[in-house]
Amino acid sequence: MCSSFSRGGIVLCLLLASSIGTFGAVIQLTDGMTYSNAAILQRDAENVQIQVHYGEIKVPISSVKSIDGVAVDQLTLPPAPSPETGNSATTDVAAAAMHPLPGPLGPTNSTTVGLAPAPPLRPAAIAPVKYVHNFKMDLFLLVFGVITAIWTGMLLWVQRDVAELFADAPREIKRWNAKVLLLPGLGLWWYLCARSAKIAQQEDVRAKSLSLSRAPASQATANPPVKRGLFSGRVKFSMPFRSKKKQVEFEFLDDDGKSIDIQRDSPEMTGIEAAHQVLQEAITERASDVHIDPQDKDYHVRFRIDGQLQERMVFEKVDGQRVVSSLKVLAQIDVAEKRKSQDGRFRVRTSLHDIDFRVATTYSMYGEKMVVRILDRKGGMLGLGDLGMPKPMMETFDRVIHSRSGIILATGPTGAGKTSTLYAGLGRLDTRHFNVMTVEDPVEYHLDGATQIPVRPKAGVTFESGLRSILRQDPDVIFVGEIRDSETATTAIRAALTGQLVFSSLHAQDALNTVVRMQQMGVETYQIASALLMVVAQRLVRVLCNKCREPYPASGTELLSLGLELPKGQTIYRAKGCATCDNTGYHGRTAIFELVVLDDELRRGISDGLNQQALADIARSKGWHSYREDGVTKILNGITTVEEVLQAG
Ligand SMILES: [Zn+2]
Repeated sequence: MCSSFSRGGIVLCLLLASSIGTFGAVIQLTDGMTYSNAAILQRDAENVQIQVHYGEIKVPISSVKSIDGVAVDQLTLPPAPSPETGNSATTDVAAAAMHPLPGPLGPTNSTTVGLAPAPPLRPAAIAPVKYVHNFKMDLFLLVFGVITAIWTGMLLWVQRDVAELFADAPREIKRWNAKVLLLPGLGLWWYLCARSAKIAQQEDVRAKSLSLSRAPASQATANPPVKRGLFSGRVKFSMPFRSKKKQVEFEFLDDDGKSIDIQRDSPEMTGIEAAHQVLQEAITERASDVHIDPQDKDYHVRFRIDGQLQERMVFEKVDGQRVVSSLKVLAQIDVAEKRKSQDGRFRVRTSLHDIDFRVATTYSMYGEKMVVRILDRKGGMLGLGDLGMPKPMMETFDRVIHSRSGIILATGPTGAGKTSTLYAGLGRLDTRHFNVMTVEDPVEYHLDGATQIPVRPKAGVTFESGLRSILRQDPDVIFVGEIRDSETATTAIRAALTGQLVFSSLHAQDALNTVVRMQQMGVETYQIASALLMVVAQRLVRVLCNKCREPYPASGTELLSLGLELPKGQTIYRAKGCATCDNTGYHGRTAIFELVVLDDELRRGISDGLNQQALADIARSKGWHSYREDGVTKILNGITTVEEVLQAG
């Protein structure tokens, strides 16, 4: 009996010791947060996965300052997965890079962990990872061991006394045993619960302090930090907080610009605080879209930055649903309807400008998915010089937009910056002496002196009807956001032929393909030939991060793939990745252009019904360059990479 009693005590002690022993590493993040009792589960070139008391979190390497006192840039990182090394090699390296996990009450003074043999092509990874000894943890375990010994001794002592006192009542002995063993057990359980709650709360406070209170006091009054509702909006994992950029404060407006009275206590709005945080991060990070994707067990939030999706946050399933439902309320769409695709919009007002959000939901296997498109008019209109157009092209563009009548078209994929280019042109016009009218979906820029009409299908305002109403308003210059159907196409061409200058955009592969597209939309070739002034085609390419771009001599194959003859060995640049650019190697985007200005010969060619190839031959004989050629100039200037230009098409 005696032995069973003390055995129980020892088991409890061992349990506590092992739970602490496995959390040995001290991980410091760049934003000041420290995880003291963490265990490193896995580490690769980009992320460290660590286990803390309340769960696992994934931290990008760029956000880690040090591990056990060693600065992260002094730790040798295992290589990123590559076709040469294969996945298994990478896993071995990652496993070997794990922090040593000491056994229960075991010594923690293992200092060096060797890495598995490095893959042949990456000799840099052979160096062993060195960990600095954690003396604090040693001391803790020593004290813990002493307490355990004293406790075990006390248990034996109590056991002896009880056995003497209740020698004739074995049931009483059992009751005492239970009491003495259960009480410390309960205490231990309470301690661990309180501890994980405290860590979770610190994490929450950290998130709040970084995202909500960073703005100066003058701006903070625009939308005071929201009070805590039923839902704390705790993000399971979120790393945008590493950005030291100033967060924008804002208030929510409805589609008409009236302030929305947010019923924070209503059940649909319990996620508003987290939704606010998501949008704030997205704006700060220059995201163009926010994807809120339901998965099997949680919700993933991804931002589209410079055209690429990047995962930024993970919410618990229920919290993700709350965020989605709050955004639905803001966008004035039916919260109860979860199966039908819906769309809506809302606006936020910052101290500087308004930002429009367009929300679209769809039903999916694991729940409702939402995409929020951010239309940030912050930058305002770009000047002609800011577009990234080569100078001679810019001068031609500027000359043609000052024509009195005709149609100017921009073409390229969605989100390629067509509107920015056309607005840069509109901005050059004298809006005081011309009646400039636009119909757009949505209005992306504010143009002083112009009448801008947003498309509202529900109110009966479409591109076509908007354009027809503009024509009754004695316009000089008309901007039609997009020509999508034959009615709009023919109306726009007719306006261009009757003395108005029309700007519009159209989906086509390249500049000369627009002629074919116009014909397919039912516009007569003679009308195109006489109305069309100029076509700008553009694609976006990512701009190399100038902190980390890497020069190298161009190889023959690269130049061949671009179809160009250039001296082999010409220095060009490739993307590398650093903390400034979130390890992408790129920061921001620019456009590559091609410009076709119609002259008599091309007009004759169009009305004679020449095919695209024949038209291209004529254009080329006049010195026309494709956007790939503009792309090559940008590669040689170190603005972008070969991959980006090839990918642009
Ligand atoms: Zn960089």
